[in-house]
Amino acid sequence: MTETASRRTLHITTWGCQMNVYDSGRMADVLRPLGYRQVATQDADMVILNTCHIRERASEKLFSELGRLRALKESRGGAMMIAVAGCVAQAEGAEILARAPHVDLVVGSQAYHRLPELIAEIEAKRRAVIDTDFPAAQKFDLLPEDQASQGPIAFLAIQEGCDKFCTFCVVPYTRGAEASRPAAAILAEARRLVAGGAREIALLGQNVNAWHGEAPDGATWNLARLLAELADIDGLARLRYTTSHPRDMDAALIAAHRDNPKLMPFLHLPVQSGSDAILARMNRRHGADLFRRIAGELRAARPDIALSSDFIVGFPGETDADFAATMRLVRETGFALAYSFKYSRRPGTPAADAADQIDEAVKDARLQELQAVLRDQQHAFNRAQVGRSFEVLFTGPGRHPGQSTGRSPYLQPVVVDNADIPPGTLRTVKIVQSNPNSLMASLTQEQIAA
Ligand code: SF4
Repeated sequence: MTETASRRTLHITTWGCQMNVYDSGRMADVLRPLGYRQVATQDADMVILNTCHIRERASEKLFSELGRLRALKESRGGAMMIAVAGCVAQAEGAEILARAPHVDLVVGSQAYHRLPELIAEIEAKRRAVIDTDFPAAQKFDLLPEDQASQGPIAFLAIQEGCDKFCTFCVVPYTRGAEASRPAAAILAEARRLVAGGAREIALLGQNVNAWHGEAPDGATWNLARLLAELADIDGLARLRYTTSHPRDMDAALIAAHRDNPKLMPFLHLPVQSGSDAILARMNRRHGADLFRRIAGELRAARPDIALSSDFIVGFPGETDADFAATMRLVRETGFALAYSFKYSRRPGTPAADAADQIDEAVKDARLQELQAVLRDQQHAFNRAQVGRSFEVLFTGPGRHPGQSTGRSPYLQPVVVDNADIPPGTLRTVKIVQSNPNSLMASLTQEQIAA
């Protein structure tokens, strides 16, 4: 490594989902051999904005941050490289350079492994570069094996892209067609993560349960089989997978929740609406009853399982009766956690052009009504944990001195008044108090003595 290379500094700002968090980590892994180390924005030679297109005003947020970075770049006489990555980069490409000529690089979500070449091209030609192609080879398997430790809880991308084309969603356009990584590459990465200190791995994908990858013997495995193989890795204690689609919850995967002891009893399964008419207009390709049936089968397979979900209210054409159907499904099912949003138009998606958009005031009222019930369900679920004992995976010190914090099987933050628990340790605790978003616990007597 040259003297110059060893002085390079990098800052990555990440917006959006866990896949983006994972991608940012992998971009840092790609750039580390070039001598880039991560620092605060104001000290960075290179700033990457890893963008998300799912939420409202994604472009406005990007251009406002780019305005701030332009001032910083100008204050350094231009000696700073600015890159835009992620879904907004993929969707808007050249438009970003047209509106923000101080940007040096626009890199789509499939081209992160090419960052070293792209940086070299910018430095050699002294002009901005765009790479938003969808290459045939999968980026994950072109990224370096060397990975920074993610700590006791690690993410591992196994699938990317989506073929479902829900009418509100940009993912099929920004992340491309569904692609599954081969099992051998996933198992190798999981072993490296465990060697680096991971005790829990969350498998990631836009449609993670659509994963069907090539097995080491050339056959095709489903996700249940992959989870079984991962569960054999010594030192790995917990497995999760997110985000799933109801249509891809097959019988084998439901049975895995009964048979795979490392699979945590918590599943995020977006349903979006309880109305069949709205689900059809969303092109979800399932009705509310399929979701009810899956929830029932999961609970039969694993009685202590808890569900979380996503909801959109005010989708075009949503009537009072449609919204009532959503409220009915929420009340019947009971969710430990949920994310709910007002529908907002995503340019380029079919629903954005629908004529029967819903009035904002109606959307606001429906969202409030839905969130009140979801909040009550979340609080009730947390309260129901008081008095229970279960294993917590500890991740580090708590917010206050003398505390340690970790995650319950249901992903709730759990805090204990004991500062001596090393990160990566699993301990059985007894829950003594519930807060809206966290739990307080005490160690059992045996654990304190251990
Ligand atoms: S299943 Fe629907 S919501 Fe999920 S990524 Fe695909 S298109 Fe988007």
